[in-house]
Amino acid sequence: MPTNRTKRPLNFIEEIVEDDLRTNKWEGRVHTRFPPEPNGYLHIGHAKSICLNFGLATKYNGLCNLRFDDTNPIKEEAEYVESIKEDVRWLGFDWGDRLCYASDYFDQLYEWAVRLIKAGKAYVCDLTPEETREYRGTLTRPGRDSPYRNRSIEENLDLFEGMWAGQFPDGSRTLRAKIDMAASNMNMRDPVMYRILQATHHRTGDKWCIYPMYDFTHGQSDSIERITHSICTLEFEDHRPLYDWFLDELNVYHPQQIEFARLELTYTVMSKRKLLELVEEGHVSGWDDPRMPTICGLRRRGCTPESIRNFCDRIGVAKFNSTVDITLLEHCLREDLNKRAPRVMGVLRPLRVVIDNYPEGQVEELDAVNNPEDPGMGTRKVPFSRVLYIERDDFREDPPKKFFRLAPGREVRLRYGYFITCVDVVRDSQTGEVVELHCTYDPATRGGDSPDGRKVKATLHWVSAAHALETEVRLYDHLFVKPDPDDVEEGRDYKANLNPNSLEILTSCRVEPSLAGAAPGSRYQFERLGYFCVDPDSSTERLVFNRTVPLRDTWAKIEKEQK
Ligand code: ATP
Ligand code: MG
Repeated sequence: MPTNRTKRPLNFIEEIVEDDLRTNKWEGRVHTRFPPEPNGYLHIGHAKSICLNFGLATKYNGLCNLRFDDTNPIKEEAEYVESIKEDVRWLGFDWGDRLCYASDYFDQLYEWAVRLIKAGKAYVCDLTPEETREYRGTLTRPGRDSPYRNRSIEENLDLFEGMWAGQFPDGSRTLRAKIDMAASNMNMRDPVMYRILQATHHRTGDKWCIYPMYDFTHGQSDSIERITHSICTLEFEDHRPLYDWFLDELNVYHPQQIEFARLELTYTVMSKRKLLELVEEGHVSGWDDPRMPTICGLRRRGCTPESIRNFCDRIGVAKFNSTVDITLLEHCLREDLNKRAPRVMGVLRPLRVVIDNYPEGQVEELDAVNNPEDPGMGTRKVPFSRVLYIERDDFREDPPKKFFRLAPGREVRLRYGYFITCVDVVRDSQTGEVVELHCTYDPATRGGDSPDGRKVKATLHWVSAAHALETEVRLYDHLFVKPDPDDVEEGRDYKANLNPNSLEILTSCRVEPSLAGAAPGSRYQFERLGYFCVDPDSSTERLVFNRTVPLRDTWAKIEKEQK
């Protein structure tokens, strides 16, 4: 299992755990869980919770369960369960034999509900959903008691069994906890424990037509699994008194709930409802669209599990909400890929270059370094010939100040190759667009060194036209144009901030021939351009790449400063 790589001070949850270990509060045990609801794919926010829960178990020699909180048969699907397992595994964590489902506890929960009825702590209520809401009151107005609140225990037992037996239509009755309709905490105003729902559950099938509410399930599931630290996000702070009430009234094992701030990222929406909407309305190609903040989207984009874990470690765990800048995630990615991704040459927008004095038909195999950060990664050969492609952006007919790349009459270095000098420019007679450059090369500069100490100010990447593979490259930008996608005018929603230019597809890119047959998921640094990952849409005939993240482009920075 992965461990934290950086040395940092303890976060407040680790402090609690270490205190508990010192006082032997849980007999030395640390047992956490990651409790997703299988109603969508996991996202980077879940990764924070996964790293935290599994990370604590690893660090303190404890255990971490993977538990599906599957209480809502309408929105949940087996597809989500499988994807969640795959994503947790991919992130590098292992739940061993502790794969749990809240639905496995339905019998126990039913029995506990009956116990609360017998203790006079729960009742069957016939108010409609609208009436229930109305009776509940507001933050400033106390609720009113339901007219069914004082039913006898016998009648409640009878009616609850009727609910269980399918005698009543959906929504006609509920089982509610009998707490306090005037409580300042709205969660304590006789919350619903069970509802009637004639729906097929992905695991229990048609066994049940009543389903426990999340709030009646979550804390008890933690209790059943003998979790020590029930870690959840801040919005559950107000639910804690209710969870405490259930566990105390039932007089069962009582874990400690600890709330932490959820991860929010700039330019990103994180709610599953919104992510599902983006998928269903076709704003993205699916849950694994590389622009999505989902784990499978990030994976397809080319992120490594190591970089995501490192990101989660760096953002830390706090008690107050804040938004993390997405550039931190990009930084963690570059840092990791820089070490592990082999470097290759690829040209996104090719411009043809003919080397007039290079012998026709000659091909040289030049030595190229696979990763200067890691000599162990070795070298490879790249073919050089008379006709090459360079990046269109690397040539300017009228070079602005500080533009040091190729221009008429100017000499530059081709990486691992030769010095070349531009001697002529061929234009399309109709459009005037530059379609080809003519250059000369200096045979004495083979490998990119000049024998007379002559200096050039730029080194360009290139590919040999006859040898290069034609490929598709997909470039991504943020899915939203504003750092806060919810920052919209009244009456509009976050979709008004969708970035119309978040995907750019380039179809006639060229990459060096060493990439032939690269497997989907392989990651490379295209020299000077960024990190790229082979997409599953690739075939043996045609590679498709996703740009994971660009390198910081120095010229783009200069140009921006000049403007
Ligand atoms: P949503 O509200 O978008 O549906 P959720 O929080 O209900 O998300 P769950 O499947 O219930 O999704 O989440 C599983 C676990 O992941 C929970 O413990 C939850 O606290 C945690 N989690 C969800 N989103 C985040 C986030 N953005 N940052 C940190 N933890 C999160
Ligand atoms: Mg939830």
